[in-house]
Amino acid sequence: MHYTGTIWRPPYEASSLLLEVTAGCTHHKCKFCTLYNDLPFKFRMSPMEDIEADLQEVASTIKRWKGFGFDRTFLTGANPFVLKFERLMEIANLVHKYIPSCKTIGSFARITDVTLKTDDELDALHKVGYDGLTIGIETGDDVALRFMNKGYLAADIITQCKRLDRAGIHYSFFYLTSISGAGRGEIGAKATAEVCNQLHPIEVGANMLTIYPDSELYQEIQKGNWTEESELEKYKEVRTLIENLTIPTIFGALGASNAFQLMGELPRDKQKLLDTLDKIIANVSEEELRHYRKNLKHL
Ligand code: SF4
Repeated sequence: MHYTGTIWRPPYEASSLLLEVTAGCTHHKCKFCTLYNDLPFKFRMSPMEDIEADLQEVASTIKRWKGFGFDRTFLTGANPFVLKFERLMEIANLVHKYIPSCKTIGSFARITDVTLKTDDELDALHKVGYDGLTIGIETGDDVALRFMNKGYLAADIITQCKRLDRAGIHYSFFYLTSISGAGRGEIGAKATAEVCNQLHPIEVGANMLTIYPDSELYQEIQKGNWTEESELEKYKEVRTLIENLTIPTIFGALGASNAFQLMGELPRDKQKLLDTLDKIIANVSEEELRHYRKNLKHL
């Protein structure tokens, strides 16, 4: 299989076939992001021959191991959904040719990748199996989105996700706790809940900002242009987000950036999640949480 650099995938894609169709990120400008810094390039499309060779390899493995197979493929890279409509269709055709058991195809996507597709193209992509995109919206706070160079604003998230809703393409969000900076966590959480409440994310997954020295954000902090939230403010922010979400969705905080892992179905588990967060806020010290973050070598 062709895998380049660190392969990132959401926790719920653990049993999907990971197929490399891109490596890196077309945007590559978010100040906090170091995810693809191990690559010698910003973005690369895999040659179609490599994609086909990987699918042939998977197909022959499936043949040898009776009872083994995939019903879902997750295309790897930061935003494979940026690929032109024709290329995404070609990839889907290859997936179905070699892995007939595969029903759906997902990937990470940027909001701006959806903007590039027409409504008819989104419909056609859904028909060939594209479903369950994971979008790192990070926040609905325009001040933070601008400062961090995300390349879109809250209104774009709403517009483009409504287009996905219309096409029947489901999606989940990643939220980046602490992206709004010191003293603004709860503002960011409320703005994000307001965005999410107008949409239909299957899951809202929260990761906590962990700043590494090779990020642009680290330089901004050194220059005094930005201040990180305290660890306890981050937990209060997550609490505010959950409290203000009024849609039925799954809330998860499962990645390594969260010292405490949380998971629940909203609205059913809302009070349970809030109680757990209250206990953390009341009983765990800033020092203990900071110690965890400082020793987090890798996300
Ligand atoms: S956060 Fe996502 S969109 Fe932004 S640079 Fe990193 S991988 Fe690209």
